[in-house]
Amino acid sequence: MGREFSFWEREVWLNKQDLLIIGGGIVGASTAMLYKEKHPDHDVLIIDKGLVPEGASTRNAGFCCVGTMSEHLADMKIAGVETVLKRIERKWKGLNLLKETMGEDLIGYEHSGGYEIFTDDKLFETCSEKVEWMNSELKNRLGVDSVYSVQEYQGYPAIFNHVEGSVNSGMLMRELHKRISKMGVRVWWNSEVESVASKKVSLKGGVDIHAENVVIATNGFTKRLIDLPIKPARGFVFITKPIDGFGWKGTFNHNAGYVYFRNVDNRLLLGGARDLAKEEETTDQFGTNQKIRDYLISFANDVIRLPKGWEIDMEWSGIMGVTENKEPIIEETEKGLFVAAGLSGMGIAIGMQVASELCAKIVR
Ligand SMILES: Cc1cc2nc3c(=O)[nH]c(=O)nc-3n(C[C@H](O)[C@H](O)[C@H](O)COP(=O)(O)OP(=O)(O)OC[C@H]3O[C@@H](n4cnc5c(N)ncnc54)[C@H](O)[C@@H]3O)c2cc1C
Repeated sequence: MGREFSFWEREVWLNKQDLLIIGGGIVGASTAMLYKEKHPDHDVLIIDKGLVPEGASTRNAGFCCVGTMSEHLADMKIAGVETVLKRIERKWKGLNLLKETMGEDLIGYEHSGGYEIFTDDKLFETCSEKVEWMNSELKNRLGVDSVYSVQEYQGYPAIFNHVEGSVNSGMLMRELHKRISKMGVRVWWNSEVESVASKKVSLKGGVDIHAENVVIATNGFTKRLIDLPIKPARGFVFITKPIDGFGWKGTFNHNAGYVYFRNVDNRLLLGGARDLAKEEETTDQFGTNQKIRDYLISFANDVIRLPKGWEIDMEWSGIMGVTENKEPIIEETEKGLFVAAGLSGMGIAIGMQVASELCAKIVR
C-alpha cells in the first residue's frame, strides 16, 4: 500500500501544480524561473533526487565556452558544418542570456578568455589553417571580430578565444535557487521520481502527484524515466591544494575539449579524459575510473608541469547526458509532458537558452 495522505494534503500539496519539473539543475531551475516570469500566479514545483542538484550543474568545471577549434572540427565530421556553426550561435546566445539574467558578479564570472593548447603539431596545423575561415563565419553569425587567434602559452602552441570565461558553478546554482525561491517556486529535495505517465508523476515510496504540465530535466538520468536517445556520460574532476606561484591563469582545453583545466585562485582544477574509457564511462553512477585519474595526474605533471609536491585536495564525478550529434532534445513527447535534456557537456553555455526554448513550447 502507498503512503496515507489527508484530503488537504492531496488537494493542496500534491495535486494542484500548474508545472512540475523533475530535476533542479541549471535547466530545471532556469525553466522554473523563466516560466514564473511569464505566469507569476502559477504553482511551480521542482522535484530532485539529490540533497543539492546532484547531476552535473554543481559538479562541472564552470567554463563559459563556445568551444575549441579541434572540438568544432571533430564535431563537424559527425553533425555537419551548419549544425556546429548553429551550435556556436546557441552557446553564444546562452552565455549572454545567463550573464545578463544572473549578473556577472553574482555568479563569479571571470572574463579570462580561453586557450586550446596543443601537444600534437599536426593537429595544431590543421586547426590553425581553419582559424581565418571560422572567424569570418563567426563575424557574420555573432557579430564579433577575430574570435580565435593563433598564439603561444607556457611554451605550447595555442589557439586563443577572446569571448570565453568561467563561473563559480556553486555560486551560479545557489543564486538561481535563491531567485526561484523568492518567486514562490517550491523545491522538494531528496525525492526521487520513479516514473512519469500522462501528467502523473510517481515518487519512490508510492506517492503520486498530478500536474497540468510536466518537464523532465534530468539530463544524464533521463533514460531511467523515458526512452530517448540520451546516453549518460560520467566526467571526473579534481582540484589541487593551493600551489605557490601557479602560473596558468584562465581556462584551458586540450584534445578536442576532452581535457579541460583552469585556475581557481592559485589551485588547479583539472578534469575530463573520458575518451580513454568511453564505454566504462557511459554510466549514470558516480565514481572514479582509476585509468582516467592516473592519466590526469600525469597530465598535471608532464603537460601542465606542476611543481613537485602538489597534492589533490578534492575529487568528484558528475553525470552528463549526451546525444549522438550533441544536439539537446527539447520537445513535447506527449500532451503536457516535456523533455529538455541531452546537453552534451555544454550546460553552462546553453542551459538557460535551452530552458527559454522549452518555455516557449509550454502553452497554458
Ligand atoms: C565533470 C563535468 C564538467 C563539466 N564542465 C562543464 C563546463 O565547464 N562548461 C559547461 O558548459 N558544461 C560543463 N559540464 C556540463 C554541464 O554541467 C551540464 O550540461 C549541465 O549541468 C546540465 O544541466 P541539467 O540541468 O540538464 O542537468 P543536471 O545538472 O544533471 O540536473 C539534473 C537533475 O535531475 C535530478 N534527477 C535526475 N533523475 C531524477 C529523478 N528520477 N527524480 C528526481 N530528480 C532527478 C538530479 O539529481 C539533478 O539534480 C560539465 C559536466 C561535468 C559532469
